[in-house]
Amino acid sequence: MDGTNDDRIRRLDDWDTDGLTALAEEFETPLYVIDLERVSENCNRLRDAFPEAEVRYAVKAHTGRSVLETVRRAGLDAECASAGEVERALAAGFRGDSLHYTAVNPPARDLDAVVSAWDDHPDITVTVGAADTLDRLDERGFDGRVCLRVNPGIGAGHHEKVRTGGHAKFGVPLSRAPETAIDAARRFDLVGLHAHAGSGISGADLADHRELVGRMGELARTVAEELSVEGLPGLEYVDVGGGFGVPYREEEPPLDLNAVAAATRDALGTVPGRDGDAARLAIEPGRYVVADAGVLLTRVNTVKPTPDTTIVGVDAGMTDLIRPALYDAYHPIANLSANLSQEAIPATVAGPICESADVFCDNRPLTRPERGDVLAVGIAGAYGYEMASQYNSRPRPAEVAVDGSDLSDSRPVRHRETVEDLTRVERPIEPLEDHE
Ligand SMILES: *Cc1c(COP(=O)(O)O)cnc(C)c1O
Repeated sequence: MDGTNDDRIRRLDDWDTDGLTALAEEFETPLYVIDLERVSENCNRLRDAFPEAEVRYAVKAHTGRSVLETVRRAGLDAECASAGEVERALAAGFRGDSLHYTAVNPPARDLDAVVSAWDDHPDITVTVGAADTLDRLDERGFDGRVCLRVNPGIGAGHHEKVRTGGHAKFGVPLSRAPETAIDAARRFDLVGLHAHAGSGISGADLADHRELVGRMGELARTVAEELSVEGLPGLEYVDVGGGFGVPYREEEPPLDLNAVAAATRDALGTVPGRDGDAARLAIEPGRYVVADAGVLLTRVNTVKPTPDTTIVGVDAGMTDLIRPALYDAYHPIANLSANLSQEAIPATVAGPICESADVFCDNRPLTRPERGDVLAVGIAGAYGYEMASQYNSRPRPAEVAVDGSDLSDSRPVRHRETVEDLTRVERPIEPLEDHE
């Protein structure tokens, strides 16, 4: 496009090898490294590409305090998927008018907590995906800002997979959306319509995104007209969700944000809004903000040649980064300790968990790894630490923050958990001495 928007992704090769190795030495492994300057850059790239839109960070991609503060300073709003996320966003300084809580089958405890937060922060917006969530809010005395989440049924008839299963879980069916929206507007302050397709928007895949946005534009015009007929306030925004794709594989091209923005504007069209203004566009990327700002460092503890492959045993596993095990996700992996003269061998990098899914890659060329080498797993900033667990009684890893390419100025932002952290919630059923 015009070249003002830098679409480059930060690849594993772009990190300073010696700097990462030094961090692994200082803070030990497994260790997450998060570059907060890169997080800011990603926020700015999104705002540059969508200057007219409200940009909301879907905090579930990485809810670390350091990231939340960075995103807030970069001027983005926060989109929260649970009461816990709302609480953490407030603690990180987000104000009520920049907080959006998207209730997915919300547990009573979550609704109670969010309605109580709303008492203190009356500008919080609650996005509801079922008509009875409106009733449940009503029962709790809530009469504030709501947004209606719609299931746009994208690909119905073309892509069987997205029509069934989990997708019906999210949002009010498109066919019922106008009546539910009007009902919501009569009882609450209906400020927006929302849809999130869930799948990654990629260069190849803009047609689906266009289709989703087009349907949302059409729906919003229908709803706007009915609101106006009823004399109710108009919509402030149409939120078309997140899902901005990140190219995990080296050969994948980065997303052309300007092209996505142009397609989004074009497909949405003009939607009449509130007080004579047009309704604004809103987007809520999560992954795009943090993915390439994070790296997971891990140390090789075992090298085992087998007839099929070489097993490279490392001290990080699916408990630290579950995406490969859960989604067959690809993450780039490099041996930071190898020198260039060493040859690559087909390697299967495996973690220490008693699960066959606990592998980061199968038979992938890796510069000959030796015991003690430090490996870097790239593009690990999104849904990395966030989905970490303590399975196998593995304390979660530490996280250190850096600012830009000079890694010498680092600071720990999450301490490495201990077994004590795991057992803090437990109570013994008998004192140990009775047992002897
Ligand atoms: C997860 C989620 C997002 C962010 O998705 P990404 O793929 O990380 O961009 C946005 N909106 C909602 C409602 C979500 O649940």
